Amino acid sequence: MAWETIHKTGQGAAVPPNLVDYDSERAGFSWEAARGQLTGLPAGGGLNIAYEAVDRHAEGPMGERVALRCLDRAGSRTDVTYGELAARSSRFAGVLEGLGVRPGERVFALMPRTADLFAVALGTLKHRAVLSPLFAAFGPAPIRQRLQLGTGRVIVTTPGLYRRKVAPVRDDLPELRHVLLAGGGEPVPGTLDLGSLLEDADPAYEIGPTDPEDMALLHFTSGTTGTPKGAVHVHEAVVSHAVTGRLALDLHDGDVFWCTADPGWVTGTSYGIVSPLVNGVTCIVDEGEFDAERWYETLEREAVTVWYTAPTALRMLMQAGSGAAEGHDLSALRFVASVGEPLNPEVVVWSRDVLGVPAHDNWWQTETGGIMVANYASMDVRPGSMGKPLPGIGATVLRRDDHGKVVLDGEGAAVPAAAGEEGELALRPGWPSMFRGYLGEEERYRSCFAGGWYLSGDLARRDEDGYFWFIGRADDVIKSAGHLIGPFEVESCLMEHPAVVEAGVIGLPDPVAGELVHAYVTLAAGVEASDELRLELVGFARKRLGAAVAPRDIAFDQHLPHTRSGKVMRRLLKARALGLPEGDVSTLESVP
Ligand code: ATP
Ligand code: MG
Repeated sequence: MAWETIHKTGQGAAVPPNLVDYDSERAGFSWEAARGQLTGLPAGGGLNIAYEAVDRHAEGPMGERVALRCLDRAGSRTDVTYGELAARSSRFAGVLEGLGVRPGERVFALMPRTADLFAVALGTLKHRAVLSPLFAAFGPAPIRQRLQLGTGRVIVTTPGLYRRKVAPVRDDLPELRHVLLAGGGEPVPGTLDLGSLLEDADPAYEIGPTDPEDMALLHFTSGTTGTPKGAVHVHEAVVSHAVTGRLALDLHDGDVFWCTADPGWVTGTSYGIVSPLVNGVTCIVDEGEFDAERWYETLEREAVTVWYTAPTALRMLMQAGSGAAEGHDLSALRFVASVGEPLNPEVVVWSRDVLGVPAHDNWWQTETGGIMVANYASMDVRPGSMGKPLPGIGATVLRRDDHGKVVLDGEGAAVPAAAGEEGELALRPGWPSMFRGYLGEEERYRSCFAGGWYLSGDLARRDEDGYFWFIGRADDVIKSAGHLIGPFEVESCLMEHPAVVEAGVIGLPDPVAGELVHAYVTLAAGVEASDELRLELVGFARKRLGAAVAPRDIAFDQHLPHTRSGKVMRRLLKARALGLPEGDVSTLESVP
């Protein structure tokens, strides 16, 4: 079904959006001017992410402002001011220095979402070492693999995680010199206690000269389509973090911002730590996991104004029913955004009706370091669309040939697709948070570029008004009887049926059609799986999508495989259906 545009009038808004008019903001934008809005290290010392995020604020009257409002699992809260965070992260930088860790060496964080995580992340950056966050849910093997790939010198974790996940592989990690444990407890042989190290360290630390091109972050991708890649980012990325927080997330002075992303995912760093702090807002730091009642309570009690979350989380709230939201005063909420997976239009509209503001989809990747395409506070929302490219970002859709390669013209330039035509979503290289390489995989990095563009590996189309629409990952797209089918279109349609909460759609080989569309659906609470329902869903999809695109068959699956960052792992559904090896499942949600 076609979803109506959600119009924004902007009139009478209590807080006028930062991006007032998309076209004029884009026309007047320059990265140089954006860079000029940051402070830079004193005495021309360069550009350091942590200095821009905390120290420059802490030095002025903002030192007293709450930077972090930390909620522990039991629900008690502790506030940390910008001044305190500056001192605590400086202490950690001093700890690294004391341990003989050199700039450029890698510090891994395998930590829950707590104030310590911020001190470790920012302190690492101040020391000009490289931060590499890991999902706390990883098992020992993926931890070993990433520490080996990244030559981890230090890992900071908790006693429990250490015992279960790091100790079993420590002998395989000769480069790993120091294990620091946060959270106190009995001394553990072979490790150091983070709390006492911080206490003994100096709260002042002078950040050394930092070249904007110095490596700052090593982020492993979500592993949705294969083996995770280690994307290298540099200090200059902070320019993108500042701009996207202001324009795409509409962060204002005085905002209370909540990013629910796992700290092991790139979103947990770019928008869980850096972007909000650079923009001087108060971050909600919730140690707990998803729980509908707790989340509504948090939004209300903390008077969250800007909320950044993921489609699966919104779908889970939707599944909990509008009753769960009733009785909660969400009137402080001004802007809701989501990332990581396609946001089906039904959720956008649900968000408007139940949360009071539509969810604003935006698109980016580990490789891009920051938001690239977004729906903005001031711009009409076309439910199901990812929005338009950020000011400063050149994005396009490129035509592909029958083998999936982008088409180049006689001069070697890539050919753009026409309005409405499907092709590969591509970005013009040169924005500050662009990855500078895949660690140890030069060839793979080079293969991401063609005809003057960075190729995202995602398929999309752009409508005549410049809105981008996600089709699917190039690896997931289904070719059936001459049609190119994006799984999202089919999944989104199935999710419009009241019995369905989530869907994963894949293509299975067929001698006649090439591939046939096959769907796995998760049913809403209380709905019974039955053959009648299956037929009803097939009919429902046929009516909306046509017989060529609708799934041939539907299977019920209450536990679709997800990555830790909340993405449906379609490649795993496919491997399981075909009885093939499952490949790299290190980021699978249920890995112990
Ligand atoms: P891997 O590269 O290891 O397969 P991954 O691509 O899932 O994993 P991430 O960098 O976390 O790793 O995810 C980026 C991808 O997530 C995008 O390329 C896109 O496929 C998907 N994605 C992100 N935002 C959106 C969105 N708003 N709509 C649709 N898909 C999105
Ligand atoms: Mg990817």
